[in-house]
Amino acid sequence: MSQLEFDRAHLWHPYTNVVKPGATFLAKSAEGVRITLDDGTELIDAMSSWWSVIHGHRHPAIMTAVHDQLDRMPHVMFGGLTHDPAVDLGRKLLAMAPPSLTRIFYCDSGSVSVEVAMKMAVQYQHSAGRPARSQFATIRGGYHGDTWKAMSVCDPVTGMHHLFKGALSVQHFAERPPLRLGDDWDEDPERNGLADLARLVAANKDRLAALILEPVVQGAGGMYFYHPEYLNRARAICDEHGLLLIFDEIATGFGRAGRLFATRFTGIEPDILCLGKALTGGTMSFAATLASTRVAEVIGGGEPGLFMHGPTFMANPLACAAACASLDLLATGDWERQVALIEAQMQAELSPARALPGVADVRVLGAIGVIEMDHAVSADRAHGYCRELGVFLRPFGRNIYAMPPFVTTQDELTRITDGMLALAKVL
Ligand SMILES: *Cc1c(COP(=O)(O)O)cnc(C)c1O
Repeated sequence: MSQLEFDRAHLWHPYTNVVKPGATFLAKSAEGVRITLDDGTELIDAMSSWWSVIHGHRHPAIMTAVHDQLDRMPHVMFGGLTHDPAVDLGRKLLAMAPPSLTRIFYCDSGSVSVEVAMKMAVQYQHSAGRPARSQFATIRGGYHGDTWKAMSVCDPVTGMHHLFKGALSVQHFAERPPLRLGDDWDEDPERNGLADLARLVAANKDRLAALILEPVVQGAGGMYFYHPEYLNRARAICDEHGLLLIFDEIATGFGRAGRLFATRFTGIEPDILCLGKALTGGTMSFAATLASTRVAEVIGGGEPGLFMHGPTFMANPLACAAACASLDLLATGDWERQVALIEAQMQAELSPARALPGVADVRVLGAIGVIEMDHAVSADRAHGYCRELGVFLRPFGRNIYAMPPFVTTQDELTRITDGMLALAKVL
């Protein structure tokens, strides 16, 4: 059995039918923006391997940091022990995060960081003497991960809630913010979506621990960019009714949308912030949940005081070392120019797609470029064209999109946008 045959017969891939798997490539190595396949074909990684590899694959600074840490201490438990990579990473994160966030919980993956955030919110309310507040408000069209609690706040339709009815916690969904980023703000609360949110929160406030959402950019829920003013107003609604505000910046954190965090499109700060994906520059799975001083003090001052979460590989030193190196690369500030150039080039090169039949919308923000079709497109069919295009693209839903590494050159980006246009013509 060849490697690919074994894979087909035995390995489950993300969001696929295990008995009818789709086309899969055998990747052998990766360097910069390129993935090399078993037959030597090179594909430009237009997905940044699910939005994580912002500096390109195997960036030398990150590789060196991980090798050094590997030689010293790949892992120790975090209960009762700490280490330089965890402390150094904490310093770097606090230097860039919203200033009110002062406490960091390291964990294994984005979904787990959402679990941790939701658990913190419930325990905060419990410690504050409101134990009945254990449910969550959110907006439609969101994506927060695949574990149970995270899934319960994903969009009910794309998250297939009907399938898991009975097993999923009941949460409360307001309409997707109707005004887009770049639209003129409309003060009419029926038209800007806030009336719906305010009604939902007011009606359920005795049950609600927090409002959780992805600020400005809804990623896997549909690549939708909405008006930041919605978030300023949502903050006020949360404050009025005693809900915490959780921002899931697992997709948008570390420059992807053109600002270091999407929170910076707003004038407010969340109480809890989830980070993941690009945290290690795509080297390995790692995430962090940041909390405000107030959240930490209420939880710590309540009963039982301790926070009941502690993954085996919490603050893994290798992951912390990779993250430190990745944040150092961001600190040079070059990403800002790179992302601005990518944004301008994608705006120019994707705009002809607007004239193509079947295209519903074209939008670009930072290093995110989207051609939204008026019909669902098949990732498997897209794979059939990847070798020919020399670009790895994996559309989902109605969206043919790219989230290229920030180091993608002008010529490489043109190949990506050409590939997206070519797919929009055939899918
Ligand atoms: C990817 C993602 C998650 C889940 O992260 P995993 O590391 O895949 O568990 C959660 N929220 C958002 C916004 C994401 O993009």
